[in-house]
Amino acid sequence: MSGTCRETVIIPCSGIGKPFGSVSREAAYEVVDMLRPAHARLIALSRLVLGDDDARDAVARHPVVTIDGCKLACAAKMAKASGARRVRELAVIDTFRRHPKLKPEGIAELNDAGRQLARALAEEVAAIVDEQAGGEGRDA
Ligand code: SF4
Repeated sequence: MSGTCRETVIIPCSGIGKPFGSVSREAAYEVVDMLRPAHARLIALSRLVLGDDDARDAVARHPVVTIDGCKLACAAKMAKASGARRVRELAVIDTFRRHPKLKPEGIAELNDAGRQLARALAEEVAAIVDEQAGGEGRDA
């Protein structure tokens, strides 16, 4: 199992077929690929659903940010059921309420507003990663 103690695990929900689910995943990729690659790692919800030991170990040992596309909160529930103890639960709808002009549309490919909403959400996640890293999170 790799990873540093200051790493934050990001778990987007798997809301395939829903624009808000697509925003969740795109925001998570933005954080781990672009904004905080050295301090955040993504774990697919499907790995927790399947009981993957490495994934369960990671969520138990690291702070976790879940990003859910609807109130069913699949990512948050699964993270906690998998042993996560430090969970920050984010929901795409909350970011959308702060940015009501950024209405996401499209599923396979988000519209411009959806991509901007994902970026705004990714910035919120990155700020949490920074908190968890004790101010060392910013990679750039
Ligand atoms: S939280 Fe909602 S959108 Fe995401 S996987 Fe669950 S049911 Fe789908």
